[in-house]
Amino acid sequence: MVDACDVLVIGGGPAGLATAIGLRARTDLTVVVAEDRTSPTERFGETLTPGALAALDRLGLADAFRADGHLSCPGGISVWGGPRPGHSDHLLDPRGPAWHLDRRRFETRLRARAAQVGVDVRTGTRVVTTGQESGRTTVGLRGPAGRSTTLRPTWVVDASGGGSWFARRQGAVRHTRDRLVAVLRLADLEAGTFTAQTAVEATPTGWWYGSKLPGSRIVTALVADRGAAADLLRGGGRRWHEELAATTLLGPLLARVRLRGEPLRCRPVTVSRLDRVTGSGWLAVGDAASERDPITGCGIHDALLDAADAAWTIAAATGAGGQPPWRYEDRVEARFENHRQTRDALYAAERRWPAEAFWAARVPRPVAAT
Ligand SMILES: Cc1cc2nc3c(=O)[nH]c(=O)nc-3n(C[C@H](O)[C@H](O)[C@H](O)COP(=O)(O)OP(=O)(O)OC[C@H]3O[C@@H](n4cnc5c(N)ncnc54)[C@H](O)[C@@H]3O)c2cc1C
Repeated sequence: MVDACDVLVIGGGPAGLATAIGLRARTDLTVVVAEDRTSPTERFGETLTPGALAALDRLGLADAFRADGHLSCPGGISVWGGPRPGHSDHLLDPRGPAWHLDRRRFETRLRARAAQVGVDVRTGTRVVTTGQESGRTTVGLRGPAGRSTTLRPTWVVDASGGGSWFARRQGAVRHTRDRLVAVLRLADLEAGTFTAQTAVEATPTGWWYGSKLPGSRIVTALVADRGAAADLLRGGGRRWHEELAATTLLGPLLARVRLRGEPLRCRPVTVSRLDRVTGSGWLAVGDAASERDPITGCGIHDALLDAADAAWTIAAATGAGGQPPWRYEDRVEARFENHRQTRDALYAAERRWPAEAFWAARVPRPVAAT
């Protein structure tokens, strides 16, 4: 049996859930979110920039967010481009502080809000097929216990993350600007205090960050090239720990605390985007449209902005709202371009190790036309 729905959102991460909530705030459309994971899992991506609270406010979530125990982050401390620490703070930022997220709690809150505004959130449900039937898109879902359903949505929102599950099947192509890897460790803070600032430090191998998380947790990560990361992981990650201990900012900060650490984990970090983020009856949001370098800490923020623009675009296309004064694809492109420029400027500002492979490979280069 084929069920009709107005909008199917593939992926219940921040981008997908925010699009669904935004759509229900603007329209009476029936919105289904299909999310593979049964419940939110611990994930990396834990700093929320100050502007994101305004986006959450528009989803009716600012008060709940403030009550959810995320830690406010007053700013950053960095050793970048020179040996002396520099500071950036949000003290005078009218948008308020940044936040260290409990990512699981954050996504649980988004799911609850989506259900509250009438979104049909189907968890443990993977989108597995797509096709055409009488000129309409059909999408096959595999739910809990392997139950299969077919939907015939008027609109599909691809919010499936960097895999762009739906967009790639519509012929969109992913252009990758950079591939890195993050080698991360989560740890419980057993004794001592760690700064509330996000600490960032460039080294010849790449760059490190460390930040406090809710629940007396600390995340420490090295973002590096894949080959270098593999070397550091050998022998149980001994060299990762040695390089961390030798850093001039993070090493001393961590020497003051006692941690109970978990094993090191690796996550790919890709800077990439689709060659087109919309097509007939579909659009892509968040990482599915474009993935960012975590150095700028704006992946979730920009995903929330994509979501707001996507909701307006679909509302207008279905006659449920006025036409926005911009094109969706231009907005996504402008945000990615802004990220690219910020990222290039950051990497260009670190000139201490021009012969090191990591830095030599990241001398800013012209943007390839897509
Ligand atoms: C190491 C690292 C550190 C980062 N640090 C930060 C940070 O500090 N701050 C920040 O803002 N951002 C950070 N990011 C980026 C941030 O995590 C992402 O930008 C953000 O998660 C994007 O949200 P999204 O909803 O687009 O995608 P995702 O969060 O990836 O959600 C996609 C969802 O789609 C689901 N899905 C995929 N395929 C299917 C399918 N076929 N059917 C059903 N469901 C499917 C997945 O289960 C997933 O839940 C970091 C990323 C990395 C890798």
